[in-house]
Amino acid sequence: MSEVHVRNLSLLYGTAKALDDVSLDFPDGQLFGLLGPSGSGKTTLLRCIAGFVFPDRGSVTIGGESVERVPVERREIGMMFQSYALFPNMSVAENIGFGLKVRHVTKTEVARRVGEALELVHLEGLGNRRPHALSGGQRQRVALARAIVTRPRVLLLDEPLSALDKALRSEMQVELRRIQREVGITTIFVTHDQEEALTLSDQIGILRAGRLVRSGPPRELYHAPEDRFTASFLGEANFFDGTPEEGGLRLASGTLLPWPGARAPDVRALAVRPEEMSISPAGLPAPQGSCVIHGELGLITFSGPTAVCRVSGEGQQFSVLVKNSELGDIPASGPVAVSWPASRSMQIRG
Ligand code: ADP
Ligand code: MG
Repeated sequence: MSEVHVRNLSLLYGTAKALDDVSLDFPDGQLFGLLGPSGSGKTTLLRCIAGFVFPDRGSVTIGGESVERVPVERREIGMMFQSYALFPNMSVAENIGFGLKVRHVTKTEVARRVGEALELVHLEGLGNRRPHALSGGQRQRVALARAIVTRPRVLLLDEPLSALDKALRSEMQVELRRIQREVGITTIFVTHDQEEALTLSDQIGILRAGRLVRSGPPRELYHAPEDRFTASFLGEANFFDGTPEEGGLRLASGTLLPWPGARAPDVRALAVRPEEMSISPAGLPAPQGSCVIHGELGLITFSGPTAVCRVSGEGQQFSVLVKNSELGDIPASGPVAVSWPASRSMQIRG
């Protein structure tokens, strides 16, 4: 087993809290996505786990053992960073085998394991190439092969795909997921891209200013975010603030939005994803059990298969995502009713 636990990690750079009392569990064999804006402490957390920096407080365990006194090279960690350059003067095979060679693995064993790694990342036959003769995606595969050829207990990936263009990036996301499943190494994947985190991860942790905001399975965090930061960082959300009442949340205009099930404590707002809402011409009766807000349709922005409609209502602006095929059913502008099933409202605390 090689699960990773961090407990109460804090690290100060001068007076800046890079990590502030972070506790997280990274389950054995899973792919854990660490998400957060730039400067939120993602890289620092990886560096603490790898052993490049030491926390002021807190502990790191790998496979149940404290690694406080274990140096980087004995933590059995594989790493891949965005800027993790390959050695330009070495062949692909030499690059991949480097970590084995310095560990004094025999030549035949190195050759065998490099062959396996090349196969795993689908680069069979390219072992003799130099890095400059590879495409960007192929170089990423070499870097990944190099990170896993030593059979690490934990794989740390720090924004490994952020230098790639969109098409290559989605291809590598699928590949990374496949390879991680095949080798089953506990993996911590840092990204600032929420879609990437949702696509790839078994579990997600969200960092903000050195603190862990929330962690859990992607769907749970997306559909029941609980706090404003998680709701708006993982996708888009429209917020409606109000006063909690027995039957629902009372907005300033008097509109009552019914609770989406059992009322959670400390709820001060409801959030709704733009794709859960629909628009209809004003005056039509709303379906039973739905929330309705009356507003004024403004700008409509097309983006391929969908369009984003900006609506003003309840003293604010919000977005509604509609399929292009549904655009014919709504007016081009003017008064509209925006509705959604009450069960799709998300309760936001504080
Ligand atoms: P992220 O990877 O999420 O972008 P980092 O972990 O790199 O964030 O940084 C967290 C905070 O710590 C930032 O405010 C950053 O400026 C600061 N920081 C990181 N490394 C150092 C360092 N070596 N010296 C001083 N401050 C640092
Ligand atoms: Mg970083």
